[in-house]
Amino acid sequence: MKFATELIHGKSPIDPEFGSLSHPIYHSSTFAQRSMDEFGRYDYARSGNPTREAVEEAVAGLEGGTTGLAFASGMAAIGSTFMIFSPGDHLVVCEDVYGGTFRLLSTVMKNWGLEATFVDATDPAAIAAAVTPRTKALYLETPSNPLLKVIDLKAATSLAKEKGLLTIVDNTFMTPYLQRPLELGCDIVLHSGTKFLNGHSDVICGFAVAKDPELGKRLKYVQNAFGAVLGPQDCWLVLRGLRTLKVRMEESQAGAIRIVEWLKTQEKVAKIYYPGLPEHPGYEAHRAQSSGPGAVLSFELDSYETTAKLVAGVKLAAFAVSLGGVESILSYPAKMSHAAMPPAEREARGIKDTLVRLSVGLEDPEDLIADLAAALGA
Ligand SMILES: *Cc1c(COP(=O)(O)O)cnc(C)c1O
Repeated sequence: MKFATELIHGKSPIDPEFGSLSHPIYHSSTFAQRSMDEFGRYDYARSGNPTREAVEEAVAGLEGGTTGLAFASGMAAIGSTFMIFSPGDHLVVCEDVYGGTFRLLSTVMKNWGLEATFVDATDPAAIAAAVTPRTKALYLETPSNPLLKVIDLKAATSLAKEKGLLTIVDNTFMTPYLQRPLELGCDIVLHSGTKFLNGHSDVICGFAVAKDPELGKRLKYVQNAFGAVLGPQDCWLVLRGLRTLKVRMEESQAGAIRIVEWLKTQEKVAKIYYPGLPEHPGYEAHRAQSSGPGAVLSFELDSYETTAKLVAGVKLAAFAVSLGGVESILSYPAKMSHAAMPPAEREARGIKDTLVRLSVGLEDPEDLIADLAAALGA
């Protein structure tokens, strides 16, 4: 089945009894059992719920994994995944990892005993140099947030396999429509489903997908033990959002490409970060491992004043945290996604205070350009 067909039909039929095209929402915390000896498929809904299972299977199928798990947020998926490790274990993490992941690793997980070394993972030698005898996994995001740095996933996974490490990839920006890390040899894919997967800015959710069933079992054990599961109503909303994933990604990406072309002509735009630009250092690597540059781009303005003017003047794109919605979202990483990162750390990682990130939604790109132009006084 091709991707678009799988989005609509997945593992149909949904409801062989009544033929409902939409998955029923099982708003039940527990399921009655027939007898002491005869237990049904579901018992307590933290361990399993049919609506949750439907979205878990859908996301697992799209990523090409054997096990999919839905969590109450992207951070819950990420944090629960860290729980498969033990105190004393070590991870090698790409340096411009999502701010919340940086916070989790550098405070909560660090106190718990999981160590992390942050490296420029665009350089395989830097990854290799950070591996210690206690290292258990590589944790990567490509393209990264907010500088859209590209990590060569095949190079990273072959290094990981050589050293006996797992490769974990946060695939939030690309979605399985554009990039499927499990097919490239990675072991676990993570998502903030809040973003493109659900796509309508109305649910906070996360997913973990494992390729290997044994690894899937370890993750499922933590999901049940830790209990940060996604509720059935939200699961249903994600099921609905997922159906238009392909058309949303295609349209938003086309808009992003158009906006990048326009930004290139703007004097007040100092630098553009977008993996679809041939001058992007990761252009070739990204092309080799994905089928498109996506709908998120970042750019630097010529001054702090211009940046402030743009943020204050933009009317169509919402000025907000988050991305991947049907509406365009402009954000200011220094004070939003990366506010949890100390300023010195942030500056060192190239996240300047003249940097903005734009997640392109489904508005007409010409209207978005006119809005940006007006805000820039162009
Ligand atoms: C938003 C985001 C997260 C965190 O997900 P939540 O759903 O907000 O908990 C993790 N990684 C990336 C790349 C994100 O954009």
